[in-house]
Amino acid sequence: MTLPQLKILPLGGLGEIGMNAMLVSYGRDAILIDCGVLFPDTEMLGIDIVIPDFSHFATLDIDLHGYMITHGHEDHIGALPYALSVRTAPIYASRFTCALIKQKLTEWNLKFSLQEVAPRETLDLGPFQIEFLRVTHSIPDGLALAIRTPLGTLIHTGDFKIDHVPLDGEKTDLARFSEYGEQGVLALFSDSTNSELEGTAVSETAIGTSLEAAMRDVGGRIFVAAFASHIHRIQQLCDLARKLDRYVFLNGRSMVQNIRLARELGILKAPDDLFIELAEAKELPVHKLMVLTTGSQAEPGSAIARLALADHPPLPINVGDVVIFSSRSIPGNERAISKAINGLMRQGAHVLYARASQLHTSGHAHKEEQRLMINLVKPNFFVPIHGELRHLSHHAKTARECGINEENIFVIEDGQTIIFEQTQNGIAASRGDKLEARKVFVDGKGVGDVGDIVMRDRQQLANAGIVICVLTLDLATGEIASGPDLICRGIIELEHQVPLLEEAKTTIEKALLEHTPQARKDPDLSKETIRLTLRRFFRKTLQRKPVVIPMVITV
Ligand SMILES: [Zn+2]
Repeated sequence: MTLPQLKILPLGGLGEIGMNAMLVSYGRDAILIDCGVLFPDTEMLGIDIVIPDFSHFATLDIDLHGYMITHGHEDHIGALPYALSVRTAPIYASRFTCALIKQKLTEWNLKFSLQEVAPRETLDLGPFQIEFLRVTHSIPDGLALAIRTPLGTLIHTGDFKIDHVPLDGEKTDLARFSEYGEQGVLALFSDSTNSELEGTAVSETAIGTSLEAAMRDVGGRIFVAAFASHIHRIQQLCDLARKLDRYVFLNGRSMVQNIRLARELGILKAPDDLFIELAEAKELPVHKLMVLTTGSQAEPGSAIARLALADHPPLPINVGDVVIFSSRSIPGNERAISKAINGLMRQGAHVLYARASQLHTSGHAHKEEQRLMINLVKPNFFVPIHGELRHLSHHAKTARECGINEENIFVIEDGQTIIFEQTQNGIAASRGDKLEARKVFVDGKGVGDVGDIVMRDRQQLANAGIVICVLTLDLATGEIASGPDLICRGIIELEHQVPLLEEAKTTIEKALLEHTPQARKDPDLSKETIRLTLRRFFRKTLQRKPVVIPMVITV
């Protein structure tokens, strides 16, 4: 009897850092690992978030046994509402991850079934036997997955690092990874985010020492921008506040929410009287206050961006205050962060950021940790996950150095399936079909209604502005009954507009008069003439290409 195929379909996260989602199916039985969003880059104008394309996933003839969520970062849980609305299945995750998911899905008014799992717990889901393995990451309660299937065991690391002295003592379960390695692992899917970085990631515990050194002699307020989900970092900051005799004010909705959740679950240990409200914070002597704030990426409108612009922040910067960025800059945000740093310095703050001093460490394994994972798990096949192509390729090179055969390494991007099947010589792996893996834009209530064409329009509008020409045409005579009237936006400041638009109007009138009296009665011809004339006009006068919209009304 031949066994069904075991199939891997990455819907996201292979080819970009974000929107992680991978479908594992054996015959008709399937599970989805992670379900995250991607944050838009600066070219994706007006887009709130980007999610994987779930249209194929929605129509697949499969029996989905569950969503297996490795940890609570947005790029692993953020797309759950969208996936659940096309396919329901129970969600399995650790305690803290469950709390974050519950908070998110409750806001969406969706029906869901959430099941808490613990490290080393095993679940039987159809043909899959899944064990959850503890991993250390930049959020508490991270899990990797060991998935036993009839064709062999798959190990999916989730996001991980190997920190031998993690703050909460929850170490990556190397012993268990190694046991799987001894038993034999068909394939390892491992986090590639930091595959270009040598050595090992600095332990979270070491960051506390640098933070303390940076804070010890500060006479003013201390503002710290950190990721609200990085509870270990927040724990260190709370401990330091206590030690340095400062009270903590929480700035930003997600900071308040996540800290509340983490304290309720006992993951964050901080006494009630450490935290103060805004009114008290305002009254407090400056050397008594630490502000934990969101906005470490200085996104427009974020707490840090407002502080930097002195745009009515709850607590403004005073000369002598210190602002610490205890976070990394996500690629694409460097300019915004740099601008914020300049703005804060201009107001007299002393600004410290990760690149200049050891105030942050990554939650992702560097090369040496990736090597250790490969050597412990000793997989037959290796698939680098979580990264752009360059990160995946670097990780593949590391795997080759560790002795994995070139032909057993699959560097693939979203949509490319891998098939594992039984052959006379054991289990073989090969590339299966390649599905189109679009990135779906979410803008307000619209999911996928902004595509390439709309995005190109937005880029053109953003780059060159728009001019609308309204003209009323008398169909009987071919005369202009009123207009042309011109409205423009995003082209030129108001004080320069009047003479320019007057000149444009004259040019349009002249161009229309060049047609024969009979041709002048044709509204479509007039429209086209206006379009071409205005395009030529703006090219000649300003060397610009605004979007031109002619409107011809007939009477
Ligand atoms: Zn993560």
